Amino acid sequence: MDLRNCIKCGRVFAYTGSDICSRCAGDDIEDFKKVKEYLYEKPGATVVEVSEETGVSEKKILRYLRESRIEIREVDNFLLDCQRCGKSIRSGRFCDKCTYEMKREFKSAITPKKEEPKLKDPGKEKTKMYTYEIRKKYK
Ligand SMILES: [Zn+2]
Ligand SMILES: [Zn+2]
Repeated sequence: MDLRNCIKCGRVFAYTGSDICSRCAGDDIEDFKKVKEYLYEKPGATVVEVSEETGVSEKKILRYLRESRIEIREVDNFLLDCQRCGKSIRSGRFCDKCTYEMKREFKSAITPKKEEPKLKDPGKEKTKMYTYEIRKKYK
């Protein structure tokens, strides 16, 4: 078991991929709700504004951004970099272009198990045919 100290309260807890213990994770959900509700009221708010109004630390808000849980529309202030091409982005880890390209690469690299109806991908017809051919082969 990987034991760690919670970055928030310092308590030792069993690491499960999060840097905070389950007790603090509860607070985290509360904070996230506050941030989300605030952004719902004021969609154009900046990180500083959100932090001041909700009492949630800027660091935490930036983490929500990094985890793609929220999106802050700061026109002149792109806070994150695409981890693939380095372009400034507003949320998540990759820019739209890289996300699209990676999805396409990912799709062609593996045999899809199920369809993703949300994805508008020109390669979709090809993928279907590929799946069909595989099925035929093993019948
Ligand atoms: Zn804690
Ligand atoms: Zn990119």
